[in-house]
Amino acid sequence: MVGSGVAGLFGALCAASEAEVLLISKGPILSSTSSLAQGGIAAAVGDDDSPALHAEDTVRAGRGLSRPSAVSALTEEAPARIRDLTELGVEFDEGLGLEGGHGRRRVAHAGGAATGDRVARVLAERVLAHPRIRVAQGDRLLDLATAEGRCVGAVTSGGRIEARATLVATGGAAALWERTTNPSGSVGDGMAAAYRAGASLADLEFVQFHPTTLVDSSLLLSEALRGEGAVLLDEWGERFTDELAPRDVVAREVAARGTVVLDLREIDRGRFPALMGSLERSGYDPAETPIPVAPAAHYTVGGIVTDLEGRSEVAGLYAAGECAATGVHGANRLASNSLLECLVYGRRAALSALAEPDLPATVSAEPVTSKRENVTPALRRALWHDCGLVRDAAGLERLRLAPHLLTRLIAESALIREESRGSHFRVDFPTESEAFERHIVLRRGTSPELETWH
Ligand SMILES: Cc1cc2nc3c(=O)[nH]c(=O)nc-3n(C[C@H](O)[C@H](O)[C@H](O)COP(=O)(O)OP(=O)(O)OC[C@H]3O[C@@H](n4cnc5c(N)ncnc54)[C@H](O)[C@@H]3O)c2cc1C
Repeated sequence: MVGSGVAGLFGALCAASEAEVLLISKGPILSSTSSLAQGGIAAAVGDDDSPALHAEDTVRAGRGLSRPSAVSALTEEAPARIRDLTELGVEFDEGLGLEGGHGRRRVAHAGGAATGDRVARVLAERVLAHPRIRVAQGDRLLDLATAEGRCVGAVTSGGRIEARATLVATGGAAALWERTTNPSGSVGDGMAAAYRAGASLADLEFVQFHPTTLVDSSLLLSEALRGEGAVLLDEWGERFTDELAPRDVVAREVAARGTVVLDLREIDRGRFPALMGSLERSGYDPAETPIPVAPAAHYTVGGIVTDLEGRSEVAGLYAAGECAATGVHGANRLASNSLLECLVYGRRAALSALAEPDLPATVSAEPVTSKRENVTPALRRALWHDCGLVRDAAGLERLRLAPHLLTRLIAESALIREESRGSHFRVDFPTESEAFERHIVLRRGTSPELETWH
């Protein structure tokens, strides 16, 4: 298991029901995007709700690209996965939250806006105490080891590891962009390693930008604030958008105006003690003065192509969570569906990996030749400028020459998609095109393909 976010931790617990698990993580066990998640986990557990209604909202957000079978699995299994967490010891708050794009109250949350931290802590405690799970913190995945077309383990900073199944749960790549809500380690290591090992990547052009993060910081000012009545004001103090419109729309409206402010003065700030505390520590007084905000890269929709059991196209290699592309989010992710994806697909991948055959007595893995690629400030600036909220062919062509594999693949995908859909906006192709109601799939050594997934 590579990664200690919610996908890796929950996947490890599921696999450990029958197998010995080694979980590696390049940082401390609780250092992940998962720990930062604020709003919660979507699941149709309310009396007025159903998985079918949850699926409808998910598909609407996905703008024609959500894979129907993946959405059904996600939404039908969601209530059971919330029950699993409760049984493991997560204490959810009373009541369900309502977030943009959801037609019902269906967001389970813990500790107010501290859901990710609460869930990750409980899972990490269980993982660390489990007799069949060994944890190697500070061990970085460098490459996946393959032999005769099968993944046979990983090459890490600590050495070579042999495994009959390897599950990559390394999270997204939003920290490749100059402005981001993600921790600095979210640079898509697992996606790049899987591609080098022969797996395909898809939907890389779809990157969600969060509209309201504190300027010059990665502090996210949750959509829930706008849900409670916080308003966005331009430099003349005027409102300029529907604050609860889809994230990509609000983010582009904010970006078009440079810096704008989020006015929190009229809302019940007592409901958000952690966020208000963070703002005060950053030198702002939300009771007195509106807060300057700007968009930041937040979530990578695309990643390693998997089936509904988390299998990549390389035998023995699985992926789950933000690094995977099941097609569930289509062209845009519905809020609070990603922690859910980690639970549903982390479990599915872990359970199906148990069926992998043992490795032969002697494994002669192919030598690994890849060189370390650095994520420099210049690279992150280039992604922000040339593949940010608004893209065009000239910028993407420039980015295709970047000295960083995943960046080149993102640029290539965004260049191929000559339309605007969901979180991908091309100023030179500003409308949706039926010809692109398909997933852009990249495989090493072959031309990109456009695929329909059912
Ligand atoms: C501020 C913020 C708020 C959010 N709020 C919500 C929310 O309310 N609800 C929701 O559903 N989603 C939310 N999201 C999105 C959600 O948190 C993520 O999509 C999800 O947590 C991803 O989980 P993961 O397990 O796939 O990866 P991560 O949690 O990112 O974990 C990845 C793990 O892989 C490890 N890793 C990475 N590279 C390597 C390597 N080379 N070698 C070894 N280990 C490696 C990392 O150290 C980490 O342990 C939010 C995101 C952010 C940034």
